[in-house]
Amino acid sequence: MFDNLSDKLDKALHILKGHGQITEVNVAETLKEVRRALIDADVNYKIAKEFTARVKEKALGQNVLKSLKPGQLMVKLVKDELTELMGGEVVGINVSGNPSVVLMSGLQGSGKTTFSGKLANFLKNKKTKKPLLVACDVYRPAAIDQLHIVGDQIGVEVFSDKGNTDPVAIATAGVAHAKANGCNVVIIDTAGRLAVDEVMMNEIANIHKAITPQETLFVVDSMTGQDAVNTAKAFNDILNFDGVILTKLDGDTRGGAAISIKSVVNKPIKFIGTGEKMEEIDVFYPSRMADRILG
Ligand code: GDP
Repeated sequence: MFDNLSDKLDKALHILKGHGQITEVNVAETLKEVRRALIDADVNYKIAKEFTARVKEKALGQNVLKSLKPGQLMVKLVKDELTELMGGEVVGINVSGNPSVVLMSGLQGSGKTTFSGKLANFLKNKKTKKPLLVACDVYRPAAIDQLHIVGDQIGVEVFSDKGNTDPVAIATAGVAHAKANGCNVVIIDTAGRLAVDEVMMNEIANIHKAITPQETLFVVDSMTGQDAVNTAKAFNDILNFDGVILTKLDGDTRGGAAISIKSVVNKPIKFIGTGEKMEEIDVFYPSRMADRILG
């Protein structure tokens, strides 16, 4: 994961290894390389610049830990700052309602259907949860079939209404079905399009309004880098969503989306997808991710 970024940061932080103390010059030299590594990983220029400015201030400040060598100190400062940038604390999903409604949003191909299944499976394994999956992609019959396949695979019921072209009506009926059948979590998979457009945004906004979900999640393909961040902004403006799901982190992603999305939309990354299989879902821990990035 993020091999290129890890390598570059490692090289940048090596600059200080031989130095006896932190100076303006060696900090500037190191942070120039750190900034370059972040930008190469597709982190927005402004975010990368602010990041290194904050690390610089701490490195040259009065409160630096004198017990650490310059190399170790800089690794610690960069790690702390990366953790902060990715959200700091772990933020879980809130499914305390009965039923709790979870609405998936995002572009076509981002991984909504796969993640809907993964989340249903994750919650089902908690024993206290009985999820229901609801298929609201009225444009692609194959998407409905795909959700049924996923549901069969994990042993979770799927509510669908093939032929009904009104996603708001399906979502509402799905929630009613859950109530009538003792399901305490309803996961609503919606249609996405290839790019942000008005029709899709109106549709998801209408579903959102009709079912008032406890959790609205934005699912995004981490391989799309800066685009992921821009799409997140567009969806957040309409939905004011509760959290981000970063998919395909197992692929050849550079890492920019994971690092910058939180600071752009100010919403936490809640889960990551690390493969096509139903078990390949992880709660997102900012500090663990920072550890992985810095090796
Ligand atoms: P949707 O259009 O948003 O519902 O996206 P899908 O759930 O159909 O996913 C699109 C493609 O991405 C499918 O081939 C999935 O198997 C794949 N996919 C989804 N999540 C992941 C992931 O975390 N890692 C990998 N490698 N592939 C994924």
